[in-house]
Amino acid sequence: MRLACVEVAGAREGAAGSGGWCKIEGMVLDSRYGKEESSGAMTRRVFIALSACALGAIGIFRFRKAGAAHAVAAGPPEIVTIVEFSKDGKRIGPVQVPKVVKSDAEWREQLDRTTFDVTRHADTEIAFSGQYDDFRENGLFRCACCKTALFSSETKFDSGTGWPSFWAPIAKENVVETEDRSFGISRTAVACRRCDAHLGHVFDDGPEPTGLRYCMNSAALAFEKFA
Ligand SMILES: [Zn+2]
Repeated sequence: MRLACVEVAGAREGAAGSGGWCKIEGMVLDSRYGKEESSGAMTRRVFIALSACALGAIGIFRFRKAGAAHAVAAGPPEIVTIVEFSKDGKRIGPVQVPKVVKSDAEWREQLDRTTFDVTRHADTEIAFSGQYDDFRENGLFRCACCKTALFSSETKFDSGTGWPSFWAPIAKENVVETEDRSFGISRTAVACRRCDAHLGHVFDDGPEPTGLRYCMNSAALAFEKFA
């Protein structure tokens, strides 16, 4: 199946040659037309592919929240409950920890540019560009900002979308899911519970046993091999 999809004008900074094409679930997409060339029917598979393509477009457009500078609230940080995991991936148990709250300037100093843009300003990395997309080592994927355990290699699968995909977080307590209506698309955004880092989105077209696809940005994750 060959699809015509929406070619996005312009290219992402530092990603010359990426163009407006994306290849999703074995199909070649050109985002200019948004419909199937052969039949014109908008099948669910096409919709999924276009949704994933739209995510790539988001990366190209480099979404930024207006205002940029995030103020750090006065007073002690909120206490949240997360689940800790050992280096060999075993669940240790829930712990109460203060939220990690930093200014944009502090995050910018700690993080590389892509990780800063993705985690602190909800940017999306270009499909197939991240280090954990085609990656099969066994270990934990922690938050790139605060090192909270987020995903295990045991739930990672090859979605073909160009972003690392998991069918479940390592603990539901460690992530926050919120509705995201940016770009006129209703999606569910996923963030780190402890530091609010934007991680990616979750979709309902994943494999069993959950049927979910946590579509994450490699830049938001820090891999730690099982000890
Ligand atoms: Zn975090």
